Amino acid sequence: MSRNVKVSVQKVLKTFGTLAAADNIDLDILEGEFLTLLGASGCGKTTLMRMIAGFETVTSGKILIDGKDVTDLAPRQRNLGMVFQQYSLFPHMTIAENVSYGLRARRTNAAEITKRVAEMLDLVQLPHLAERKPPQLSGGQQQRVALARALAVRPSVLMLDEPLGALDQKLREQLQEELRRLHRETGSTFLFVTHDQEEALGLSDRIAVMKDGKIAQLASPDELYLRPANEYVADFIGKVTFIDGIYRAAAKHVTTGEGLAIPADLTLSDGPVRLVIRPENIHLTDDTEGASGKLVEIARQTGTTTYQVRLDGGQVVKSRHLGLSDAALRLGTSVRLRFDTCKLAYPLAA
Ligand code: ATP
Repeated sequence: MSRNVKVSVQKVLKTFGTLAAADNIDLDILEGEFLTLLGASGCGKTTLMRMIAGFETVTSGKILIDGKDVTDLAPRQRNLGMVFQQYSLFPHMTIAENVSYGLRARRTNAAEITKRVAEMLDLVQLPHLAERKPPQLSGGQQQRVALARALAVRPSVLMLDEPLGALDQKLREQLQEELRRLHRETGSTFLFVTHDQEEALGLSDRIAVMKDGKIAQLASPDELYLRPANEYVADFIGKVTFIDGIYRAAAKHVTTGEGLAIPADLTLSDGPVRLVIRPENIHLTDDTEGASGKLVEIARQTGTTTYQVRLDGGQVVKSRHLGLSDAALRLGTSVRLRFDTCKLAYPLAA
């Protein structure tokens, strides 16, 4: 089923002096989708969001919301909800007053306000805190109130600018779940900004990976992971290792300068290529035929361990395993590696 376009960014340019913070961007955000702008600091994601919200003017180009040209409209005429990293609640107002703020500004009638505030506080599971004031709430609770306040006016689009940035890891994960649920239950269009790729992959229907004021790739999380459009995106999504070598389709492998043969099944012609290998596709093995190297780093994460191995040829690769690290493995231990068949590579100039 094709969905309506909610926000259409058309050839939008934003320059600050000689810098193009948004460089002729085209982007359609679909009705009801959770779209994330993802990129390193300074790539232009906040500038793009601020132009859609109306806090920043465009140098040229157009922005449409629900098919209507809003390029020259003030923020309050665009019916958007905003949530920022800083909770920005009004400290002297109660939670209920905070949530009703936008409705009162829109002169919604009192009965409707009472009903909507109760609905919103139920939605973020904080009905028992309605009469408290923001300083009496934890950071996570304040951010849920900020979400309730933004959603109360039934915005066309809810804009979230690094909303979980100030929270600790555990709370971030809780709030990520909460955001997914809010998105499902409200069916609203969410535009999310983050530099955290895990967060983007976990939350979004589609992700626009940005670099230097441009969209490097716009795709679903799976598509970005499986078919990154270029090396920049491949490197940004996950911790990949690039290995250069010569591809031979008949032999189904890539031979490296150090004589390593890595199994590969590529849609490229024979010749020099750069393989993109993910840590989950490199395994420690007992097979004495495996690529030989020495352990140079062991990093334990929750539920997984990542080993860094310096191959005999000098290149360092990462290998990720489920579970705890093997106690027999220490820095400097000689190990063997097995590579899964690699399906992703970019051609190199011969
Ligand atoms: P971060 O994650 O650090 O917020 P970002 O991807 O959101 O980064 P922007 O804040 O959009 O990036 O900035 C994009 C570029 O435009 C940066 O190089 C920034 O220095 C520049 N820039 C942003 N606002 C202004 C401004 N008002 N005047 C001049 N340059 C600006």
